[in-house]
Amino acid sequence: GLDITWAVDWVRRGAETLAEHRVELITLDREIGDGDHGENMDRGFQAVLPKLDDLPAGSAPSDVLKLVATTLISTVGGAAGPLYGTAFLKGSMAVAGESSLDAAGVAAMLEAARDGIVSRGKAESGDKTMVDAWTPAVDAARSAADGGASAAETLRAAADAAATGAAATEPLVARKGRASYLGERSAGHRDPGAQSTVYLLEAAAVAAA
Ligand code: ADP
Ligand code: MG
Ligand code: MG
Repeated sequence: GLDITWAVDWVRRGAETLAEHRVELITLDREIGDGDHGENMDRGFQAVLPKLDDLPAGSAPSDVLKLVATTLISTVGGAAGPLYGTAFLKGSMAVAGESSLDAAGVAAMLEAARDGIVSRGKAESGDKTMVDAWTPAVDAARSAADGGASAAETLRAAADAAATGAAATEPLVARKGRASYLGERSAGHRDPGAQSTVYLLEAAAVAAA
């Protein structure tokens, strides 16, 4: 199963990949939004890093997720801060206190995270938001876990499905968030939040492998 070491490694790798892709996410958001998504995500995850060192011994993966949630909520403005903050908070609650996550735990965590984003932002599939990466990831995780996959294989399936989902946002017309102000002109660009979701889930999968 996936323990505290995995959770901490996930956050470190997540911060690293979001820093690496900062300009790319800014460029995506400049095309259909206000150009701050890369900066928002980088700032939020960099702010988590020093706090990881203060986690008490015996902390569970859920404690790491909760730390990410509270940090993102307090340091990231805009749409993505509260949405990812809610995702990490609900994900944390779904696996509260469990010292090690099995495949079913991973699927439950991802599903709760996605449900948190949906209840907060009210986006449906096809609205060209991060939900279009999260929902295929949840579905893939669920079927992997049901099919007997390991926790690491479940995260791999989720990350791969998120990537396909994010790519599929390109032709869509946005119906939620700033991009929706562009109407038809939002088509032809990938949603930045869907792409940052890919980087985060990819980091989770790599940390588990
Ligand atoms: P802002 O739009 O406030 O500048 P960001 O640029 O950080 O915030 O985040 C934009 C991303 O947030 C979008 O690409 C989209 O994926 C996501 N998003 C915006 N509104 C919603 C919503 N209602 N539901 C789900 N995701 C949303
Ligand atoms: Mg923005
Ligand atoms: Mg903004």
